[in-house]
Amino acid sequence: WDDKETKVWLDGKFVEWKDANISLLSHVVHYGTSVFEGIRAYSNENGVAVYRLEEHVQRLFDSAKIYKMDIPFTQEEIAEAILETLRVNDLGGCYIRPIVFRGYGELGVNPLGCPVNVAIAAWEWGSYLGEEGMANGVDIGVSSWRKPAPDTFPTLAKCGANYMNSQLAKLEALDNGFDEAIMLDYEGHVSEGSGENIFLVEGDKLYTPAMSSSNLKGITRDSVMTIARDLGYEVIEETISRERLYIADEVFFTGTAAEVTPIRSIDHRTIGIGRRGPVSEKLQTAFFDIVEAKVEDKYGWLTYI
Ligand code: PMP
Repeated sequence: WDDKETKVWLDGKFVEWKDANISLLSHVVHYGTSVFEGIRAYSNENGVAVYRLEEHVQRLFDSAKIYKMDIPFTQEEIAEAILETLRVNDLGGCYIRPIVFRGYGELGVNPLGCPVNVAIAAWEWGSYLGEEGMANGVDIGVSSWRKPAPDTFPTLAKCGANYMNSQLAKLEALDNGFDEAIMLDYEGHVSEGSGENIFLVEGDKLYTPAMSSSNLKGITRDSVMTIARDLGYEVIEETISRERLYIADEVFFTGTAAEVTPIRSIDHRTIGIGRRGPVSEKLQTAFFDIVEAKVEDKYGWLTYI
């Protein structure tokens, strides 16, 4: 990583990747004081396009507002800085990580004595759960770690510290030989993966956990709901019990990193046909047709750099 030739946007200026450093005594290092986004850009025959840029920037600002972090740039400036990061680095399809954090100042739990810094980095990144997983499905397990209750960590904020909880679930999943974890909420209902939302297919209907203060309001979740409804599927957001996962016809993850990843087994129970099911494949294809510009971008989801 040291020798990456990419430049990082840091507080309004581009610096070399190796020089994009902060103090060890920054607030974020000690208390996890960051909010961030994960965004993808896709290269297609029309150029390089950032996917749902405006919605990601909005969520970044919403996350910051929850934690009283005043971002010293406007949403338009951050959106432009993201596009500029791809131009400066001549990147094609890539993953983009804007992060807002409390930097170096007074070290104590009170964050107000520390500046709000902003960085944007981007790099090439393939399928999050592997190419093979995209085609054949991944194996997942329900974690013994739950999502925090709504009056503990606000999950509409995509903040760094939330991912300590996600990491416990991910580590446990890997220890148990799974590709990824699915977490239950504080009441024991299905919530989401360590970095993905989840959908079930039951007959000709799609189900996803309602926004119940335990899951992230995923932008890919929204895309897939829009695409599915357009294809004629009914999509229902509701409370989902764990055992419905086992008997669903199909289950799949959605996320910026994971895109649309089919799930072939859960807790060692085969799901449906034991590989990517027809509805998952249809939605996956429809998703990639948009980002790869094989069809018209009728929802206006692509911002070309
Ligand atoms: N849940 C969690 C916990 C996540 O980290 C992510 C990835 N950002 C998602 C869901 C999916 O959200 P999105 O589709 O906006 O990437």
